[in-house]
Amino acid sequence: MKTHIEKSHFNQATYRGRFAPSPSGELHFGSLLAAMASYADARHCKGHWLLRIDDIDQARVVAGSDRHILTTLEQCGFQWDESVSYQSQCLIQYQEALEELKQAKLTYPCSCSRKQIKAACATLTNKEGIYPGTCRNQSTQFSATIKNSDKSHAIRIKVPAHDISFIDRIQHNYSQNLSRDVGDFIIYRRDNVFSYQLSVVVDDFHSGISHIVRGYDLLDSTPKQIYLQQQLAYPLPHYAHIPLAVTKENLKLSKLSQAKKVDCSLQTLVLAANFLGQKHLNHKDFDNKDDFWRYLVTHWDINKVPKMENQVIMV
Ligand code: GLU
Repeated sequence: MKTHIEKSHFNQATYRGRFAPSPSGELHFGSLLAAMASYADARHCKGHWLLRIDDIDQARVVAGSDRHILTTLEQCGFQWDESVSYQSQCLIQYQEALEELKQAKLTYPCSCSRKQIKAACATLTNKEGIYPGTCRNQSTQFSATIKNSDKSHAIRIKVPAHDISFIDRIQHNYSQNLSRDVGDFIIYRRDNVFSYQLSVVVDDFHSGISHIVRGYDLLDSTPKQIYLQQQLAYPLPHYAHIPLAVTKENLKLSKLSQAKKVDCSLQTLVLAANFLGQKHLNHKDFDNKDDFWRYLVTHWDINKVPKMENQVIMV
């Protein structure tokens, strides 16, 4: 269990980065990129680098894959600070944050099924399927009935109508209007799981994370996370979203696209560093992996990481 940090004790002058894989399979090239970019950036800035296993959604956990991921990272030459944390051991913290949002009257229970939301969106010609706020507009008595009923319900957070903007260290300006583009989003699922958005924000705060470097696929989650940080009065971390490795068919490297397990060779590490724009490295220039990491950490330049969304790579 992580120790509780008072909000005012957060010191943003200290760089604390992290890599947070979901234990749903082996470490593939796409996750290696996120691990490498977050690691090199943290070490280049003389910061700490932490590991967290994002196992909040137990239904997606593949038994033993956390051990495989840690072993693969070790074999690649990553070294992390502090003990590895597991989301499944932090439920009390998520509950506290949820209570805080409830107390602030920012949440409401929602009993809408996917089918009902689809039908409501169809009548509103809301093609994106953005939640139209059906349960938000119900009476307090209705909310109490949902809460007290046996039927499970989700908890949504009310979102504002203004834009949430931030400057990404790689992708530059990014802005989203949560009300228009997202709708009130779920922070506690009807299957009794804290949502990804809430758990990540709470974890990053409790671990004192100051810099987040992760895949481009999470760029559009960031305004939701910033909104939660603002409501919980957490400091805002700096963000950098690296381009994704995709297959020729434009599929993100993941289990779905049959991505292979990372082989931990010097060649693969060099390929990843080149993909991250730290060109033009050749594995023949390095004696071994230690030599490679020393070079990468010293010469790491986040400004060289390509801004583009996708790069096609087959591994
Ligand atoms: N666990 C998430 C994933 O594997 C990453 C979470 C994050 O970096 O915010 O996609």
